[in-house]
Amino acid sequence: MDDDARPAARLTVLSGPSGVGKDSVIELIRARSPWIRLSVSVTTRKKRDYETDGEHYHFVTRSEFQRLIDGDQLLEWAEFAGNLYGTPRAQVEGWLQQGRPVLLKIDLQGARQVRSAMPEARLVFLAPPSVEELQRRLIGRGTDDEETIRRRLVHADEELAAEAEFDNTVVNDFVERAADELVSLLGSSYLAPVSLLGPASANEH
Ligand code: 5GP
Repeated sequence: MDDDARPAARLTVLSGPSGVGKDSVIELIRARSPWIRLSVSVTTRKKRDYETDGEHYHFVTRSEFQRLIDGDQLLEWAEFAGNLYGTPRAQVEGWLQQGRPVLLKIDLQGARQVRSAMPEARLVFLAPPSVEELQRRLIGRGTDDEETIRRRLVHADEELAAEAEFDNTVVNDFVERAADELVSLLGSSYLAPVSLLGPASANEH
C-alpha cells in the first residue's frame, strides 16, 4: 500500500473503569503491534512492583507534575483516586505528525478533555462482561489497599455510566479478543508498513 492510500493516523483513547483490564489489553498490543505508539503517562502514584519507570509510567513528584502543567506540556491531565496522571503533549503530537497510530490509556476525565481538544480522536470504552466481574477483578488483583479499592469502586460506577459518550465499546471478555478488536478499530491491523517493522524502529518511543 502506498503512503497516499493509507488512512491518516489518528489518536485513539482507551478508557474504562479501573480493574476492567486496560493494562492487560495494552500489554498484548505492546507485544504484538509495535507500530502502534503507546503514550507513556506521567503520574504521581507510587510505582507498583511489576512496573518499570519510563515504560508503564514516568513516576514524578507533585511539584514536578505541577511544573509540567504550568509549562503547558500535558495534552490532558486528571486527578484519579488521589493521584495525578497526565499525557505528555510533545510525544503524542510528534507521533501523529509522523503518521503513527497512537493509543492513550486514560481515565474518563482525560477522555473528555481529549474529545474537546481533538474532536477527530476515536474514543473507545473498555467494558467488563458484567459489573460483578469488575468488582471481583478490582478486589482480587491485590495491588491496592482497602481505601484505594473503595475509591476505585466509586469511580467505576461513574465511568460505567459514561459509556454512551464513547464512539465504540469493546467488551473485555477475553483479553486477546478485546486486543484484536481494539487494533482493528485503530485501523492499523492491515497497515503495519514494512518500514515500521524493522528492528531499528520496533521498540522506539
Ligand atoms: P492506575 O493507577 O490503575 O495505573 O490508573 C488509574 C487510572 O488512571 C486508570 O483509569 C488509567 O486509565 C488512568 N490514567 C493513566 N494515565 C492517565 C493519563 O495520562 N491521564 C488520565 N487522565 N488518566 C490516566
